[in-house]
Amino acid sequence: MADLKLSETRDLTRIERIGAHSHIRGLGLDSALEPRAVSEGMVGQTSARKAAGIILQMIKEGRIAGRAVLIAGQPGTGKTAIAMGMAKSLGLETPFAMISASEIFSLEMSKTEALMQSFRKAIAVRIKEETEVIEGEVVEIQIDRPAVAGAALKTGKLTMKTTEMEGVYDLGAKMIESLGKEKVQSGDVIAIDKPSGKVTKLGRSFSRSRDYDAIGPQVRFVQCPGGELQKRKEIVHCVTLHEIDVINSRTQGFLALFTGDTGEIRAEVREQIDTKVAEWREEGKAEIVPGVLFIDEVHMLDIECFSFLNRALENEMAPILAVATNRGITTIRGTNYKSPHGIPIDLLDRLLIITTQPYTKDDIHKILDIRCQEEDVEIAEEAKALLTHIGVETSLRYAIHLISAAALACQKRKGKVVENEDITRAYNLFLDVKRSTQYLMEYQEQYMF
Ligand code: ATP
Repeated sequence: MADLKLSETRDLTRIERIGAHSHIRGLGLDSALEPRAVSEGMVGQTSARKAAGIILQMIKEGRIAGRAVLIAGQPGTGKTAIAMGMAKSLGLETPFAMISASEIFSLEMSKTEALMQSFRKAIAVRIKEETEVIEGEVVEIQIDRPAVAGAALKTGKLTMKTTEMEGVYDLGAKMIESLGKEKVQSGDVIAIDKPSGKVTKLGRSFSRSRDYDAIGPQVRFVQCPGGELQKRKEIVHCVTLHEIDVINSRTQGFLALFTGDTGEIRAEVREQIDTKVAEWREEGKAEIVPGVLFIDEVHMLDIECFSFLNRALENEMAPILAVATNRGITTIRGTNYKSPHGIPIDLLDRLLIITTQPYTKDDIHKILDIRCQEEDVEIAEEAKALLTHIGVETSLRYAIHLISAAALACQKRKGKVVENEDITRAYNLFLDVKRSTQYLMEYQEQYMF
């Protein structure tokens, strides 16, 4: 495994879909870490966002080691949104991994393996590679007459028709002379070193444009403003440790990254990867980018998981751990002891605690507004007011879910803008928790055998 397989990960394009939190682009704080009323997709929840901002500052100053964040608050009050906002504020490459504690017990792997995988999903490696590339701006030049490039070059002037510029391009005497010697033909890709005028033929790898024949022959120029034609260029890519693990584990292929069916990864594989990454770091080829690992319903973890977390937090590569719960004092799973949030005292001791508050009607209105934009749903003011009312009476999350259902109802009646009738339709089709419970109470006899 001298060569870690990375190429496969490099080519993986991350599929972004409109997820529940796709509108969150940061914490929406100003330079003094004060929360703006509505910013970066974030609305309200100002004291929690401010506290999260201070934690970010501690992270940036490297003063968070060994500690973690607890976000406590009622369901749907934005705990996940805040954790994600923290990750987004740390930078584009910062990974964000999210797991619900109960999932850990339902996966087909040991609970500590599941936690380990989550940790490694939240740690990225920024790898720098050097390759020979041509420096400089690539310009496609189309010669206006269907002549070979050489003919147009005699005058030293080329009529340019590129997406960036259009006009007459003066090549300069030196370049023309050099080009002439090179016998450049249409379709050639050449590099021109601007200061010296030296021309290098790069081959004919140029792809024909659709309307090639109509326009005439083309020559692609690669301008090299720097002076040197060939330069070593640094290519940087960012992959998570988990992605490297999966790709290099013999039993799994990179496709497992899509299915999530990764199974357990052997400890030796991880050790080898860690050694390799440490080597790269020493050679200055790689950097660790710690991300944010968010564990929801943390009270569902048991005592073994908690000791795993305690140990994992000591690791120098550890991501920022943010846990969330809406429980008060409860039993720590796997013990007979009760403690605040069902979290053992030694972990509680490490936690910086943030609380989230229930939303006001105005906040709900603004969040729904942002979500409609995110989902590209046009909605009438009146319908938005109705949706807000539903959000206040049921829950924010239920109201958010109604947006796409109402949009479908609107589409079905061939409408363009979501109106009250669409919201009502969606509301009647999908029960919220309150109505669902009521329904169960009314018909419970039919459900029991
Ligand atoms: P649970 O305890 O059930 O996991 P939660 O507290 O994590 O809930 P979220 O899932 O973060 O709540 O919030 C519900 C929805 O509302 C999400 O789509 C989230 O992105 C959005 N949301 C919550 N708070 C805000 C906010 N302050 N600004 C913008 N969007 C928000």
